[in-house]
Amino acid sequence: MEKANIDWSNIGFGYIPTDKRFVANYKNGAWDEGALITDDKIVMSECAGVLQYAQTCFEGLKAYTTEDGHIVCFRPDLNAERMIDSCKRLEMPVFPKERFIQAVVDTVAANERFVPPYGSGATLYIRPYMFGISPVIGVKPAEDYQFRLFCTPVGPYFKGGAKPITIRVSDYDRAAPHGTGHIKAGLNYAMSLFAIQDAHEKGFDENMYLDAATRTKVEETGGANFIFVTKDGTVVTPKSDSILPSITRRSLMYVAKEILGLKTEERPVYFEEVKDMAECGLCGTAAVISPVGKVVDHGNEICFPAGMEEMGPVTKKLYDTLTGIQMGRLEAPEGWIKVIK
Ligand SMILES: *Cc1c(COP(=O)(O)O)cnc(C)c1O
Repeated sequence: MEKANIDWSNIGFGYIPTDKRFVANYKNGAWDEGALITDDKIVMSECAGVLQYAQTCFEGLKAYTTEDGHIVCFRPDLNAERMIDSCKRLEMPVFPKERFIQAVVDTVAANERFVPPYGSGATLYIRPYMFGISPVIGVKPAEDYQFRLFCTPVGPYFKGGAKPITIRVSDYDRAAPHGTGHIKAGLNYAMSLFAIQDAHEKGFDENMYLDAATRTKVEETGGANFIFVTKDGTVVTPKSDSILPSITRRSLMYVAKEILGLKTEERPVYFEEVKDMAECGLCGTAAVISPVGKVVDHGNEICFPAGMEEMGPVTKKLYDTLTGIQMGRLEAPEGWIKVIK
């Protein structure tokens, strides 16, 4: 298979249309069998539920070429399960787990020429999503839905190595207690845009959100979970019902405990504790781990010991181990790697 004519190491994180996308429609209470199609446009009512009341959720995962030349993706079963949770909370029909995984496999296989080669640093980003497509004017769930899945090649998240970032404690909240912070709803992102633009304008890379009720506990950023390393080498991640359960974070905690033999804790993490941490990182599919060098709380700076030039040693070990598993250089725990081709 001849690869698409793309300068793999110089593409950014933007949308590049690929050959095929998967579409399934939910009508009269049932999903149709779905199909791979070439048309990248959607035609819908001006009054579609998604356009009026943001009834939509999404997922994100990646496919890539391993060292031995296979095309694989990482734990798609967990994306399928998380999307089911999102759909239930948004009164949307669930798309069955096995069908979700099959749609991932079929769509990636149909776009094989867009899967970046091993070693390029680039990957094929896969975006499954669902939305209410039938007209809704009174506030209620739509009757008809569309599930879609497309993929787009994306460049290495860090050009020239992972440099630590600077984040600020946000004065805005991301998720309310008992709200929708634990699901991947589009609305969570819409309302984070103001805060992230404001952070960027002031020279920060990301917002650290605290718990909305007490503003004393660390939650997450707009799109990534936190992992901290204490001075005695324990890997700690915040526990809260309003954090989105990152698959990367869950995998890193497993790697820390079961593969690296580190002590791990998932527990409430008070902002007061952050100044005593040895390392801090943000985890998500896009970057795996972004090291955090500095947290700024209204002018007070917390600087982690590893500084602004490189990852801390434990963060680096976690990063190297998980990316090694993903790229097929290290043996993966059972069920983590779905081979597509
Ligand atoms: C998607 C997302 C993450 C990262 O989850 P992964 O499954 O690791 O990609 C973290 N936080 C939020 C708010 C997210 O939407």
